[in-house]
Amino acid sequence: MDFKDSLTAFNAQKKGSFPEKGKVNTQISTLIFKHLKSSGIGSHWIENLDDHSMVVQKVKIIPLEVVVRNRIAGSLAKKMGKEEGLLLKKPLVEFYYKDDSLNDPFLSDDQVLAFELADAATITELKALALKVDQVLLQLFNSIKIDLIDFKLEFGTVKSGQVVLADEITPDGCRLWDQQTGEKLDKDRFRRDLGMVKESYLEILNRLKGIIK
Ligand code: UDP
Repeated sequence: MDFKDSLTAFNAQKKGSFPEKGKVNTQISTLIFKHLKSSGIGSHWIENLDDHSMVVQKVKIIPLEVVVRNRIAGSLAKKMGKEEGLLLKKPLVEFYYKDDSLNDPFLSDDQVLAFELADAATITELKALALKVDQVLLQLFNSIKIDLIDFKLEFGTVKSGQVVLADEITPDGCRLWDQQTGEKLDKDRFRRDLGMVKESYLEILNRLKGIIK
């Protein structure tokens, strides 16, 4: 899996890049996959090939974006007319159909079943895995003084049929707010033209490097 220096938002309508982004995200995702592994959560990650690519298990991607939310932000804040940052009573797992031509629409569990994107057992498994990842990442980010607001995961099936965590976990697909300043240290800096995009990704990397060996 190769990590590029490009950056897109709003279904690739907004495009950008920054030098070394691929390298920074490779390191961030590697540290997170290693940490998840040491916490008993496997992923498709096997090893790194060079500084911008990793060897991963071959999987068939399940065409669902699995979003976990701890606090209200982004599309949920807009949909419900709520302020960003409000804590949810418990983490929320949502499914979106991974199809850019349709703008990745939200899907109910019944819609996932009706369109045979996953069966009932897989839905249950995806939710349980996503919540497990959330618990580990909440603790991890909390220890580096960052609030994990929400994030997106993708899963795939290996030959045996087992479901594994795939894709990447980086500031491209997570909302990460500094606990002290409230500053956003994720792709919202690019989406919302807040500047300091590279610096924010590097801040996440450096804090993670400080605690994951
Ligand atoms: N997300 C993502 N890819 C997508 C849509 C969302 O990685 O195609 C991530 C996003 O970075 C955020 C979380 O999923 O951490 C929830 O995103 P939301 O539904 O609020 O959408 P957005 O506001 O980004 O449109």
